[in-house]
Amino acid sequence: MPISETMVQDIVQEVMAKMQIAEAPAGKHGVFKDMNDAIEAAKKADQIVRRMSMDQREKIITCIRKKTRENAEILARMGVDETGMGNVGDKILKHHLVADKTPGTEDITTTAWSGDRGLTLIEMGPFGVIGAITPCTNPSETILCNTIGMLAGGNTVVFNPHPAAIKTSIYAINLLNEASLEAGGPDNIAVTVEKPTLETSNIMMKHKDIPLIAATGGPGVVTAVLSSGKRGIGAGAGNPPALVDETADIRKAAQDIVNGCTFDNNLPCIAEKEIVAVSSIVDELMHYLITENDCYLASKEEQDKLTEVVLAGGKLNRKCVGRDARTLLSMIGVNAPANIRCIVFEGPKEHPLITTELMMPILGVVRAKDFDDAVEQAVWLEHGNRHSAHIHSKNIDNITKYAKAIDTAILVKNAPSYAALGFGGEGFCTFTIASRTGEGLTSASTFTKRRRCTMSDSLCIR
Ligand code: NAD
Repeated sequence: MPISETMVQDIVQEVMAKMQIAEAPAGKHGVFKDMNDAIEAAKKADQIVRRMSMDQREKIITCIRKKTRENAEILARMGVDETGMGNVGDKILKHHLVADKTPGTEDITTTAWSGDRGLTLIEMGPFGVIGAITPCTNPSETILCNTIGMLAGGNTVVFNPHPAAIKTSIYAINLLNEASLEAGGPDNIAVTVEKPTLETSNIMMKHKDIPLIAATGGPGVVTAVLSSGKRGIGAGAGNPPALVDETADIRKAAQDIVNGCTFDNNLPCIAEKEIVAVSSIVDELMHYLITENDCYLASKEEQDKLTEVVLAGGKLNRKCVGRDARTLLSMIGVNAPANIRCIVFEGPKEHPLITTELMMPILGVVRAKDFDDAVEQAVWLEHGNRHSAHIHSKNIDNITKYAKAIDTAILVKNAPSYAALGFGGEGFCTFTIASRTGEGLTSASTFTKRRRCTMSDSLCIR
């Protein structure tokens, strides 16, 4: 049987991969002291990835999915131990979600026009080496999810992870490279530095071999990336309001909102951060929040104490972010019952615990005189991030009006916020929601560039 070029390439890749296994230090694949070395290694890997068939990319992705599932608990525990944020059970679910629902190469499609004058294709090609900045709130989830998408698009990736989650990030990056090697791919499909800093981030952003930067984090990092002079995908902050109108199933709304808000102790950027409810149903909603959904009603005095602790000196206290409700209450001297999952209170939209993106299970409830007033207050609370918003309503006119007014990348109707990530809802998963730059929920196709390929007067065989 004649040996095809593809077969030769496969053999070469396998041999190279084996050589790299022998060279790589155990447990440290893809980790470098120097950012320039990391980029160089990702560039070398990119030379191999570019020549790979889609089938070969998909083989590596299948192996990444398997390893993500196998290591979900380890990664979840590492994330909680290292950052002190979130909870292990939900983080395990998040890793399973990444493994099962992050799109792979099937997301890379071709558009074709065929007619009398020939055939024209739009193909989605790789950028090369992508620079990625990741948050401490979903560290390994973002790294694994980004890499699946970026590799499916034919790229390799250099990460500058949040320093507070570097051990967890390195563990994930090592897994990614192990998966690649096991599937016959190269080492260093994803790389990082041992000690990420703003300086290493700057080196990455300015490097001539990085054509695209994907930043997932707060407003500072997105602004930095958009000022880099490179193409940037900016997945920034949110402060998602959950609007409840009088047509909603109030009992279910209370349950859905608490489930979404408390998921991983409110760390996901899409999670419900406050409620805006029309006046006629506020009392009923409060009743269900407290009596059926394990919410603790904070008194005025407790709200003030919480504000002092959570927003100490007017700044978000990192020691409170991603903590569970009982821990937060213990910080103000309240010994809450074991079942308490969330802290609730009624207040004006300007209340600091309502207007700030806290990322902890504290849900302020803002009373609106009618639906239009609720929309206005919710839009104000979203701060123009255009990130995520949620609504509980059976009135499609109301839902439509809200969707148009708030103009967010994500709008969940009548479900917990995590339904938007494909968890109890349709659609794929991502941990990078490009709200600022408009790509929305990122996937493999987001990390590609469109290329037109035209054959004039031929190859139309209709
Ligand atoms: P963060 O902004 O503190 O850090 C995010 C990343 O940016 C880190 O790697 C950090 O080191 C880096 N960084 C921060 N400022 C920088 C600068 N000036 N230059 C270069 N790098 C910089 O955010 P965090 O606490 O890790 O994560 C929580 C924030 O991220 C929240 O605001 C949340 O809404 C947002 N977030 C958004 C998404 C999304 O998909 N849109 C996903 C997760 C988190």
